[in-house]
Amino acid sequence: MELVLLGPPGSGKGTQAKRLCQRFDVPHVSTGDLFRMHLGQSTELGQLAKTYMDQGTLVPDDVTEAMVKDRLEQADAVAGFVLDGFPRNLAQGQHLTLMLSEMDRRLKAVLYFKVSLATVMDRITGRRTCSQCGALYHLRTHPPKVSELCDVCGGALVQRADDSEATVKTRMAVYDHETAPLVDFYTKQGLLHTIDAELPVDSVTERLEERLVKARD
Ligand code: AMP
Repeated sequence: MELVLLGPPGSGKGTQAKRLCQRFDVPHVSTGDLFRMHLGQSTELGQLAKTYMDQGTLVPDDVTEAMVKDRLEQADAVAGFVLDGFPRNLAQGQHLTLMLSEMDRRLKAVLYFKVSLATVMDRITGRRTCSQCGALYHLRTHPPKVSELCDVCGGALVQRADDSEATVKTRMAVYDHETAPLVDFYTKQGLLHTIDAELPVDSVTERLEERLVKARD
């Protein structure tokens, strides 16, 4: 179960990754979450990543790739993983293939979340995250029971610093220029499965699971 979730910011990858990981008992490897964790702990890597994250641009490849390698080599990733937010450009895609082959592994499938710009803008501006446990909410489609507090742990809900309108525009442009070419890259390798990410969350989950069963056969 070595999977990549590919798609623009706000396409629902994080939400679906959490569900898939629970269902298949593999770790969710989100490079964005890893950078945010380093940032929270004020590590050197976190300080370095902050400049790029604040602008909505990509953290340099060598730094990101080393962080991913380290994570994929941990014991809990032996049975598989769901990569979310990596690779984000062709160089990272090529590096991932190499990294996995050195570990005698390979990707089973790449799930491409296809969604319109209008939808992602709506999802991102309404997105809130629990500052304690990371649970995800949307002010309109999935609001918390008590305003601004997490249903799961009662933590305060926050908007990600890079979900502001100006940064989102840069992140979308970066996606178009750098990440979108990976659709072609993985199509040529026969790994790409396109999912209609406009659908409601539960329908997307159903379709993803159907695709995964097919990819496994
Ligand atoms: P995300 O949570 O996936 O939207 O990522 C938040 C930010 O982390 C991005 O805007 C980048 O600055 C950085 N980031 C996440 N993944 C990568 C990656 N694969 N390569 C470079 N930078 C990344």
